[in-house]
Formats: sequence, structure tokens, C-alpha cells
Amino acid sequence: MLFIMIISMAAAGRSLRPGGPFTQGAGAAIVATTIKVRNSIAKRHNRFPILTEMIRVTDFTITDGRLAPARWCPSPNFGPRPTDGAGDITLLVIHNISLPPGQYGGGYVEAFFQNRLPVADHPYFAEIAALQVSSHLFINRQGEVVQFVNLNDRAWHAGASCHSGRDNCNDYSVGIELEGTDTDAYTDAQYRTLIDVSEALLAAYPDLHRGRITGHEHIAPGRKTDPGIAFNWHRLFQGLAHRMNSASAQEDV
Ligand SMILES: [Zn+2]
Repeated sequence: MLFIMIISMAAAGRSLRPGGPFTQGAGAAIVATTIKVRNSIAKRHNRFPILTEMIRVTDFTITDGRLAPARWCPSPNFGPRPTDGAGDITLLVIHNISLPPGQYGGGYVEAFFQNRLPVADHPYFAEIAALQVSSHLFINRQGEVVQFVNLNDRAWHAGASCHSGRDNCNDYSVGIELEGTDTDAYTDAQYRTLIDVSEALLAAYPDLHRGRITGHEHIAPGRKTDPGIAFNWHRLFQGLAHRMNSASAQEDV
């Protein structure tokens, strides 16, 4: 009975553990929920089963470079990755963007990455309209994901950049833009989605690991400042660590 109640709560997307990764989300988006009851402990102590962990498996899957269920909004701003292994995905770069700066919604980021920014709508747009840039993914303030470039292709998000002594990060990275600024706190929904998406990327690309998740400000210091002081790196890594620990614990049931 307790078990059924827990499943019901999980299906409703409610958190049983404040601050944990299993927090509320769009009910329909929660498609995979694993509940673990550590029966071995209960048997040893002759007590009722103890609920020890709840794991929400990532909702995202990657097939042929496309992230599902991200909304596909193709950008023409991309090229092929280098061949012979040089283009293997080994880095994840976090950015921020908002258009006009500091304003959210409006669809201008999508328009910008599709080279159709309406310059008459804001004075700032005239300054950037001629730029041809893109990212693979964009996570808006509601935590919704848009994909602009196939992950197998080289998006134009990092520019002049260097990570661990290797230049041209666009060659071997995935770029994720968070809708935001360097100083506005990112939303809970954005962190949830970012953790979900990152986990899917880590699973899909074996050479990508937690130590190779970085910010644009770190690969282009002095030139770029995003995702900025508002981005809580600890929250991202803690969220990923919890998932990984949960997943490995699950294997020894
Ligand atoms: Zn950036």
C-alpha cells in the first residue's frame, strides 16, 4: 500500500525529499521513474521495507544526434566536425543568452540562431543581426529545450576558445545555452532540465564525463563571462552525482 502511494506521488511528479532531484516537473514529461526499496536491510532487521532512494531516470534520449523530446528548430549556422577522432564529443560548454539582453521569452533567440532576427524590434538587434552563430541546445526559463544543430555537427557557439590546451572547442564540444544573464538566478526548471540533458549526453558520449563540463567563461577567459556568477556549478554537479550514485546503487540490488 505504501508502495502504491509512493508510485502515485511519483507519477504526479511530487517530491518526497525536498531538495532532491525528484522534484516537480511537467507530469507528462516524467516517463521513467524507478523506485528502489532496500529489502535486504529490511530483512536483516526484520522490519518493514525502507524506502531509501527514488531515481528519476533522464527523460531525454539521443538518437543520431537528435535529442528527444527537444523541439527541433534548425539553424543554418553549423558545419561538419573534424574527422579522424578530432571531432569526437569530449566537452560540454554551458552558456547563457537572452534577447534583448535581460529579457526573456519572445522567440528572439530562436530567430537569432536562424539568421532572421527582426532588427526593427530592438536597437541591440542591429548590432548582432549579421552574426552567424548557433548552439546545439537552448533551455528556456521554463526548462523547455530547443535543438538547433544536430549533435553530430559542429555548432558555432564557442568562438576562439581553448580547453586543456586544445583550441577550437567547437570542434569537439556540445554547446548548451541557458536563457539568462550572468547575474539573474537560473530557474529550478532550467537546472532540472540541464541535469537531465547532461545525463543523457554523458550516457551517449563515452568520452564526455563530469570533469569535461565547463563554461564559456572558462574556455574564453577575458572575452566571455557566461554562464556567469549566477550559475550554480555545485547544483549541477551535485545533481549529476546523485543520479550516478543512484544508478550504480541500483545495479547491486
Ligand atoms: Zn557563450
